[in-house]
Amino acid sequence: MESITGLSLGELEHILISWGEQAFRANQVFSWVYKKRVSDFSLMSDLSTSLRNKLKEDFTLFDIKQIKSVKSKDGTEKFLFVLSDGDLIESVIIPTDDRVTACISTQVGCKYKCSFCASGISGFRRNLTCAEIIQQMLFLNNRKKITHIVFMGTGEPLDNYDAVLKAIRIINSKESLNIGARRITISTSGVAPGIRKLIGEDLQFELSVSLHSADDAVRSKIMPINKIYPLNILIAACNEYIRKTGRQITFEYVLIKNLNSDIHSCQKLVALIKDLRLVKVNLIPANIVKECRIEPPGRAEIQMFRNHLSKHKIPATLRKSRGEDIEAACGQLRLSHEKK
Ligand code: SAH
Repeated sequence: MESITGLSLGELEHILISWGEQAFRANQVFSWVYKKRVSDFSLMSDLSTSLRNKLKEDFTLFDIKQIKSVKSKDGTEKFLFVLSDGDLIESVIIPTDDRVTACISTQVGCKYKCSFCASGISGFRRNLTCAEIIQQMLFLNNRKKITHIVFMGTGEPLDNYDAVLKAIRIINSKESLNIGARRITISTSGVAPGIRKLIGEDLQFELSVSLHSADDAVRSKIMPINKIYPLNILIAACNEYIRKTGRQITFEYVLIKNLNSDIHSCQKLVALIKDLRLVKVNLIPANIVKECRIEPPGRAEIQMFRNHLSKHKIPATLRKSRGEDIEAACGQLRLSHEKK
């Protein structure tokens, strides 16, 4: 059975009209699901009993179930969910001074096998449905009012394009959580055709591209996707995206000791992106993942990398690592649960 959380307001209206109901009933249902946040159709007290029963017969509401949560000293909280088919996914709430960010998964496992990431280790299972994506946000929002969403959990969002874009449209709508598109970030490992496809969307989301190296040989070693979409193809897609949308791209760059964090790597990065008009670099000291045998560089090297970017007028931020004590990096909780 399908969950009602996978439907847009328009789709729900359509169904209710076909049942002989009036269109505004769909708004009422949305309000119960997204604003009053009930967990059962029977609680939707301004709908007739027969409509409530019919909804219950045809749809589920929540079909992901929390089975574990861990909270970090810094407030970051991570949740492990079981899906109706028994698969596991994880999501994270990251509170900071001025925002509460929800980090959402888009797939069960990941195909991409980036060498520093825990998500790919146990392989790929399937795409999440739009409903499963929405339910993570609903669940987190019930826990703590979320202001921002990043698709930086497990999976490659642009490989599950339609479900992700539909989920963004639903969660963005004022009848639902009303989270502004500018507060929603899609993060891709560099699926160039997907980046090009995003150009045509009428939504003002943010785009991050996980770059991690400006050298094809190094990038192919740590991100196998680089063999399919090497840097020249990826950067051409980014350039087109920036030119046609007028929007910025953030390059995510995980700093890994003895691999991509020396001055030479930074010079290559500058050369690769300096001519793109609207870019920013987000430096992330690698989170240690036991299975991946990687380490962040020392503080001095991180500073040097950052200073070199500023010297070349490339805006760079250094992301503070969050939730290290709870294995909050991509896929770590699921992995440790599976091992048990
Ligand atoms: N597949 C998408 C989104 C999921 S990964 C992508 O690649 O962008 C989200 C971010 O987490 C990526 O930038 C990824 O490189 C980063 N990441 C994964 N493992 C990490 C680790 N061990 N330390 C720091 N960042 C990591």
